[in-house]
Amino acid sequence: MTSNNDILFARAQLTTPGGVNSPVRAFRSVGGTPRFVTRAHGPYFWDADDKRYTDYIGSWGPAIVGHAHPVVVQAVQDAAANGLSFGAPTEGEVLMAEEICRLVPSIEQVRLVSSGTEATMSALRLARGATGRDKIIKFEGCYHGHADSLLVKAGSGLLTFGNPTSAGVPQDFVKHTLVLDYNNPEQLEDAFRDMGDEIACVIVEPVAGNMNLIKATPEFLSTMRRLCTQYGAILIFDEVMSGFRVALGGAQSIYGIVPDLTALGKVIGGGLPVAAFGGRADLMQQMSPVGAVYQAGTLSGNPVAVAAGMATLKLIQVPGFYEGLSAQTLRLVQGLTAAAESHGIAFCADAIGGMFGMYFSAQVPVNFAEMMASDKTRFNTFFHAMLDRGVYFAPAAFEAGFVSAQHDDAVIDATIDAARSAFEELA
Ligand code: PLP
Repeated sequence: MTSNNDILFARAQLTTPGGVNSPVRAFRSVGGTPRFVTRAHGPYFWDADDKRYTDYIGSWGPAIVGHAHPVVVQAVQDAAANGLSFGAPTEGEVLMAEEICRLVPSIEQVRLVSSGTEATMSALRLARGATGRDKIIKFEGCYHGHADSLLVKAGSGLLTFGNPTSAGVPQDFVKHTLVLDYNNPEQLEDAFRDMGDEIACVIVEPVAGNMNLIKATPEFLSTMRRLCTQYGAILIFDEVMSGFRVALGGAQSIYGIVPDLTALGKVIGGGLPVAAFGGRADLMQQMSPVGAVYQAGTLSGNPVAVAAGMATLKLIQVPGFYEGLSAQTLRLVQGLTAAAESHGIAFCADAIGGMFGMYFSAQVPVNFAEMMASDKTRFNTFFHAMLDRGVYFAPAAFEAGFVSAQHDDAVIDATIDAARSAFEELA
């Protein structure tokens, strides 16, 4: 019998490149047909054949309270009934800015935008504008959206500038981007010693979620903070993924490190397009219309999106929310690890807050090179074995996974049961 997913995918490819509106959805890495989602509730979504999946990507992070949470849906309906977009300020934007500044104390002032890409791109422009410097440092394996100067991989040698990872990005744009190894404080020291007074900023995912899940070591982040202060560079934490996901105050609250600027996204939109960048007031005051660094957006602070985000920000402040989320995520990774071990499969997993990583390797990787050395063929087989059993993990070995507050014991245990039988198939 032909699957409706196959039919939709064939049609989609006629009018949309690769049949998708964001590349990772296309299953290129794992092979097979993407599932076309028709509806989602709590921890589940259903595909075009009405098959149910337990969802461990949660829209790649936003769905922290579960899909179609009634409080969020109601807030969206109420806001929509009053108009969809005004291009003039609203009280909702004031409330959201106040909430973000209260929850993330390093953010004294904030600007709302519509995507994580815009947030990091604008933070970068602000850092360059404020310092009058061009060079930036990023780390291999961290993804910060698709702004030109961030689509860069490491150059061929230590402390060489990077190469574009996308066609269409001029070498001239990336010649200012230095790409270093994640979790390598010595390399960072070398870079600052060589060119510290030319560096505008360091941008980092303090918990990396785009090379599977890799946590920064405290030493790596504290070295970064010290060097940025010493050389007058801006430290940007890209918490688009980790913000409100690993803890209420983001990764910076766990590590106790205060960045100059933070980029947020995903959870703060509750499933609609809201992202933000913010930080030190003296820096944010350099943004247009007060200062000379330009940034704008027709739909920035959109009232419906802000309503979804605010409803979500309220729900995650219910006492015990993160304790519960972390416990469920831990239950998942411990269960998966035990299931793999019982079949003698080299597998490990890690978690922080509501985010997890799975690696077909003997040890949890600490950087991009170690992550790349994990067994991706085995991951792909496991991915499909789980998909057959109604569990939807990220369709690529390089992505983190996400648990929602609706993934209760029964949901997690059913996933672990499915994994036990999938690992048996792999053994
Ligand atoms: N920064 C990080 C850490 C991300 O994970 C992402 C997206 O996955 C982005 C930035 C870009 O966000 P968006 O896809 O909303 O543009």
